[in-house]
Amino acid sequence: MREQSASLEEEPPDGGVPLSVAPAEAAPAAIADLSLPQTSPRPVRTPRRPSTSPGDAFRRRHFPGASRRDWNDWRWQMRNRLRSLGAVERVLQLTESEREAIRRHRGALPLGITPYYASLLDPLAADQPLRRAVMPSLCEFVVTPGEATDPLGEEHTSPVPGIVHRYPDRVLFLATSLCGVYCRYCTRARMVGDGGEHALRRSDLEAAIAYIEAHREVRDVLISGGDPLTLDDERLGWILARLRAIPHVEIIRIGTKLPAVLPQRITRGLVQTLRRFHPLWMSLHFTHPDELTPEVAAACARLADAGIPLGSQTVLLKGINDDVATLRALFHGLLRLRVRPYYLYQCDPIAGSAHFRTPVARGLELIRGLRGHTSGYALPTFVVDAPGGGGKIPLQPDPVVGRAGDELLLRNYEGRVYRYPDPVTPENRGEGGTCASA
Ligand code: SF4
Repeated sequence: MREQSASLEEEPPDGGVPLSVAPAEAAPAAIADLSLPQTSPRPVRTPRRPSTSPGDAFRRRHFPGASRRDWNDWRWQMRNRLRSLGAVERVLQLTESEREAIRRHRGALPLGITPYYASLLDPLAADQPLRRAVMPSLCEFVVTPGEATDPLGEEHTSPVPGIVHRYPDRVLFLATSLCGVYCRYCTRARMVGDGGEHALRRSDLEAAIAYIEAHREVRDVLISGGDPLTLDDERLGWILARLRAIPHVEIIRIGTKLPAVLPQRITRGLVQTLRRFHPLWMSLHFTHPDELTPEVAAACARLADAGIPLGSQTVLLKGINDDVATLRALFHGLLRLRVRPYYLYQCDPIAGSAHFRTPVARGLELIRGLRGHTSGYALPTFVVDAPGGGGKIPLQPDPVVGRAGDELLLRNYEGRVYRYPDPVTPENRGEGGTCASA
């Protein structure tokens, strides 16, 4: 059980996250006037706490020279990420597979874990879901048929460095290769953290922006990476200002995992920067309900209060989140944090990811298990990102059982079959027809 650490009571430097979960607002006066029963404000249900050691105790034990102020400083967190075998071995009892995988690793997708996220990991159990998601294992070196380093063919749809233009009206803008934590199932495993972790050079940024300026059909820009929130406020603000100045760019989106792995990054300064560029949307990457800590709740509250619509993206991962109870807890928890579950991704066939991938049928089964048993808002779209650049293809269990004359047979969430009147007429066959009341 993660204790409410003292760090939750102190405002961090640089306008860091508020350190307690805000209580719900009292009922508005209009409701009181209608003489509805008066209830005292209920506290917001805090997300499930991680079951590992608390951040404060973790800091004292593993970073004895660091103050609470340091811990709450996102730059300190980034500087002190666990990036070597020695660093991670001081915190976790490693398995031979983890140790050997770190030793053998070369190139992109290095080891990298923020101290905050490390405090959520089980020091003893290598099969803990959060730990499996970020700790290398020897399974990464086993490449199975159908896997590729660039399964989505992004390199083939990249007209200039940093831009992927796969859909007609929107582009992906890869502004940096740096991440707070390196997820072992990353779709961009080929490039993140490679070459010493870097943001795009100024000349590449200019070329990417010039491309968007020249393509008037681009109305939506998704800034991703790497993690764009690893850029400092000034650099991110510069990119956003340049994009916002392009008349045909209607919306800007930011894809990030930092609110989950480094909630200290969501400072007042960052939020003030972001809110200048509305309409701005954010897609937050979450994997498991144990990520929904009080710190994360506070970070999401700060973003939502700035008027930024929040959606989530989750990759379906074998042994990590591939059961109905875990997904339901995650999606319900996200809704409580005002984050709308948006996409549940089938794990892309990147090289060495077979140990994470579930059969597509399992994803459909999970969606079937969730649908009807929870609010529609808690149900993301299950998608396969088509290999070779085909784009996202939504999948859902087919509720149409068949037809009986003029009735369609539909299966509901309980598995019962219902008849819906749906006569086959020339009109609904798309052959025109007449309207009696016309
Ligand atoms: S944060 Fe995103 S880009 Fe970075 S390693 Fe994880 S999935 Fe990949």
